[in-house]
Amino acid sequence: MLHRLSLSELSARLARREVSAQEALQACLDQIDRVDPQVKAFLSIDRADARAQAEAADQELAAGGDLSDRPLLGVPIALKDVLCQRGQPVGCGSKLLDGFISPYDGTVVAKLKAAGAVLFGRLNMDEFAMGSSTENSAYWTTLNPWDPTRIPGGSSGGCAAAVAANEAFATIGSDTGGSIRQPAALCGCVGVKPTYGRVSRYGLVAFASSLDQIGPFTKTVGDAALLLETISGHDRRDSTSLPEPVPRYRDFLGATSLEGLRIGVVKEFQIGGLDPEVEASVRQAVAHLESLGAQVREVSLPHSDYAAATYYILAPAEASANLARFDGVRYGRRVDGPDPFELNSRTRGAGFGAEVKRRIILGTYVLSSGYYDAFYLRAQKVRTLIRNDFDRAFGEVDAILSPTAPTPAFRVGEKSSDPLQMYLSDIFTISCNLAGICGMSIPCGFTQSPKLPIGLQLLGKPLGEGTLLRIAEAYERTTPWHREVAPLG
Ligand code: GLN
Repeated sequence: MLHRLSLSELSARLARREVSAQEALQACLDQIDRVDPQVKAFLSIDRADARAQAEAADQELAAGGDLSDRPLLGVPIALKDVLCQRGQPVGCGSKLLDGFISPYDGTVVAKLKAAGAVLFGRLNMDEFAMGSSTENSAYWTTLNPWDPTRIPGGSSGGCAAAVAANEAFATIGSDTGGSIRQPAALCGCVGVKPTYGRVSRYGLVAFASSLDQIGPFTKTVGDAALLLETISGHDRRDSTSLPEPVPRYRDFLGATSLEGLRIGVVKEFQIGGLDPEVEASVRQAVAHLESLGAQVREVSLPHSDYAAATYYILAPAEASANLARFDGVRYGRRVDGPDPFELNSRTRGAGFGAEVKRRIILGTYVLSSGYYDAFYLRAQKVRTLIRNDFDRAFGEVDAILSPTAPTPAFRVGEKSSDPLQMYLSDIFTISCNLAGICGMSIPCGFTQSPKLPIGLQLLGKPLGEGTLLRIAEAYERTTPWHREVAPLG
């Protein structure tokens, strides 16, 4: 049952040498052999490389020096296929990058290595992180460990499913409009989207550069605090990373009361299409936090209605520019043609899937002359209004609560032919990225039948991660949800 331990439990046992890094890795690999044929979270696993890392970790553990700056020593962690790890494939769930090997470590990967993690696999995702179900992966759809007829959410569906299936002690993904929080909610794990600039994006293949952030998926809030501490910080290789010092996020854990904290519940979260069981669980969670001493009041984010429309102009606009680099010359796959134009168009025609093409076309359209002012510029202005809504709300409260996703995990195929329905699964998560603030999702209950996880979203001020972790951990410690194990866990 080693694979079911939390990251913090595992690292405590590793430090006491009750278990070895090689045993921890083997526990993950055995669990993967057992359940991944059904879950399909992993695109690839480099077992030999992982074993070598685990062996080196065991030697270091045996040597027994000062390991205080190696908090992840020997802990197996897997990465979304969008993060660059030197010598490993980085394919973004796309045929276009099939066979591409990263020549360098991104900053987050370098930090994980420096903390001692054993990095062992690449996790499935919607192609170039565009989607909410992993159905846009060029390879296959990952399935939800709670019910394998359902999707795990997306775009980091592989990350969430791997944690829920106990195939990894934690995973690292990216969130542009909800891609960490929504799959975390649908798979019943903890997912954090840090404040824009908190974590360096160097070595993250860009989708929409003004919205993208990297963050952890974990089994507990404490594990998320540890990982956030590890991967955060200024990086001269990412000019948008913030120069602020990184607090010791673990110091925010263990609050016995939430006395003095003001929590806002979003008035506008009662939208049509909100599942009644999701709503009931979130209301119960609010009442629970109130019983822990928090002061609850309603807050208004009047421009919420426009968030999805704004996002689906700005994110495709940025994507259309970012994805121009996949030209058949510099990266990955090439389909030859008689001239450079043909080479480019044949490569992109064959390499990109339907959703990525849709986004590039949308993005190119809203940026084109004659439409730029009507769409792109206007969307930028609405983005400012959304940001102002949050600034105002955070004048009154320390954190804001809502559901993470309007429904629990939906069936494979249920929304894949209707892009608009799919886009609406991010209705509660998108504005956080537009405003650049931080957010996280934690388990807050289950639907009755079938039994599917429900996620509570907590939104915080810029660099307010500590406050969110404090609330989330107090909630977790006094509720049973995180202890439930998925049927494929
Ligand atoms: N589902 C959203 C989209 O398709 C968000 C994806 C993400 O956060 N990467 O754009």
